[in-house]
Amino acid sequence: MGVTWHRTAFVDDADATVSVRAKAFNYGLGCFGGIRAYWSEPQRQLFVFRLQDHVQRLVESARILGLESPHPAERIAEIVLELLRRNERCEDTYIRPLLYVDSDELSPTLTDVPVALSVFCLPLGRYFAHESIHCCVSSWRRVADNAIPARAKPTAAYLNSALARAEARRNGFDEAILLTDAGDVSEGSAEHLFLCRRGQLASPPSTADNLEGITRRSIIEIARAEPLGVDFVERRISRTELYVADEVFLCGTGAEVTPVSRIDHRRIGDGTVGRVTRAIAERVHAVTRGADERFRHWLAPVWQEARGAVASASTKA
Ligand code: PMP
Repeated sequence: MGVTWHRTAFVDDADATVSVRAKAFNYGLGCFGGIRAYWSEPQRQLFVFRLQDHVQRLVESARILGLESPHPAERIAEIVLELLRRNERCEDTYIRPLLYVDSDELSPTLTDVPVALSVFCLPLGRYFAHESIHCCVSSWRRVADNAIPARAKPTAAYLNSALARAEARRNGFDEAILLTDAGDVSEGSAEHLFLCRRGQLASPPSTADNLEGITRRSIIEIARAEPLGVDFVERRISRTELYVADEVFLCGTGAEVTPVSRIDHRRIGDGTVGRVTRAIAERVHAVTRGADERFRHWLAPVWQEARGAVASASTKA
């Protein structure tokens, strides 16, 4: 049994509950984050990837909904680190902070309501079972930012993701790619999309009704930096361009870098993991595990000193 931050304190997981009457449950009035922490065996350290950016986005998501977070981003970051310590985490971990309307009154209101923070964590390995996946273009359109803010991570927007993913799975695909109402490529159900064509990497902007992605932003920097030095452009992408791309991959905190080998039964490139995708995936792996000094500032160490190092030093002595 682990512990969860719930409203004002750390409690046993089993005690982190909300009422069936909760507005957050009835209407999805809240927003959330998804953060990964990576275990580095050589350094015997757990690194939270881009913690400050994740908590900042969470607070901004709440602001988009017109909710005031009960804590500033810095305090939420402290709670995340303390949560990992209290749960003795020494393996790859997913962290889920939620900011939600903490009221059991009937109507769907976002004004004059208490807002609570809960944060739980769980072990998480690969998000997709296969090394590369087969996607469909969904018949569901991505929720428009002016309907349910797609730039943020509102709980309610995940009905859109779940519908698209359910349709994909029922039809034998691994994942769905959603288009905007205007017909441009937006993103996957919980991942951003990149394609590579004629040596240039491209990805749609946030204005294509997709989340302001932290993995996406990281990949753009990593791809442009040496030794990869890949040319990147942010631009509109249409459905048919997916079919003639040399490489396509999805990315996100959960999905990390996931190569796409087929879309709508069409093979992408030669159907194997492309050279650029593989190189980016390898660099991202190194960065997240603390093996690339240039991006070390993206990592927040959980433990004051290497775990187990003190014990082994005293054993040797
Ligand atoms: N799009 C959606 C809809 C998502 O839920 C996620 C996961 N947070 C992503 C993209 C990937 O974003 P990030 O890299 O910030 O996790």
